[in-house]
Amino acid sequence: MKAVAFAAPGRMELRDVPDPQPGPGEVAVAVRYCGICGSDLHEYTSQAPSLRAAGLFQPIMGHEFTGIVAALGPYVDGLAAGDPVVVHPGGACGGCWHCRRGLANLCAEQMGTGYRRPGGYAERTVVRADQALRLPHESWLKPAALTEPFAVALRAVNRGALGAGETVFVAGGGPIGLLSVLAAQRKGAGMVIVSEPAAPRRELALSLGADFAVDPAQSASLQVREITHGLGCDLAVEAAGIAATMDDCLAAARRGGRIVVAGAFEQPYPVNLLNLLVQEQSIAGTFGYTSEFREARDLIVSGAVDMAPLISRTVPLAELPAVFEQLATDRGSGHKVLVAPGG
Ligand SMILES: [Zn+2]
Ligand SMILES: [Zn+2]
Repeated sequence: MKAVAFAAPGRMELRDVPDPQPGPGEVAVAVRYCGICGSDLHEYTSQAPSLRAAGLFQPIMGHEFTGIVAALGPYVDGLAAGDPVVVHPGGACGGCWHCRRGLANLCAEQMGTGYRRPGGYAERTVVRADQALRLPHESWLKPAALTEPFAVALRAVNRGALGAGETVFVAGGGPIGLLSVLAAQRKGAGMVIVSEPAAPRRELALSLGADFAVDPAQSASLQVREITHGLGCDLAVEAAGIAATMDDCLAAARRGGRIVVAGAFEQPYPVNLLNLLVQEQSIAGTFGYTSEFREARDLIVSGAVDMAPLISRTVPLAELPAVFEQLATDRGSGHKVLVAPGG
């Protein structure tokens, strides 16, 4: 089969590799749509020591995908060949301290698909049967490819303990920031404000239902203060992973407000936490998702949340190396690009 592999930092390669076969308790999934994730691009461009180059992670990335069950290994119940599914890429161990307490996202022994196990940038991949969640119909295969990043956004909002009617500020209008807008709305936010330097992404945020989209070049936090009549936001979601957006979140949150760090910080940076003390603010991290994955799938396949406006284009597997090269220098409009290995 064809697959695209990480060959070295800055180099993805289309390869012919053997068809993976499902073992006991596993299924083979013919990949239909796989989202290109910012974290994959991050690994691709990073100069930091690569877990993939070191052989700890498999060369085939891709953890946001849907497909059709193509073959079943022994001892698989509840799935049949031909079933359309979305894959939960987690692969938690199920037995550790965190897994036993419902925090599988914090499992240290995860055999994550697209990480320690080969991912969805391939015509076919093998996952544990319990990772494959059924979709009601094949027509959901495309929008459901956004289940995984939507689950990330839902958890970010959950980690911020959003109350009904509260004001949410989202710093960063990439896919996770935009999905956080949808997540905040689903969770009962009163007003949602997005900051994003790129005009097309601000427009997309507004078209998804954000109440305001501000340009951080004109001090995002001051604009949030203005919009909220001086109070500040109840919850700020940092969705860019850089000092400027984190500072905006700290400055935009009201006294007693919460800040959730959803962006992947590449660099440490100095920050004065005195304001955190004086203003009694809280900062929470967010990693992956637990029950939010099923919730995201259900919201998508019930039609409650429309993912179509977030998908810009679908490319064949052979074009993936070129698309990585392009997205590494220009992340574009904030839309998701999907790869369709089935053509
Ligand atoms: Zn991702
Ligand atoms: Zn575990």
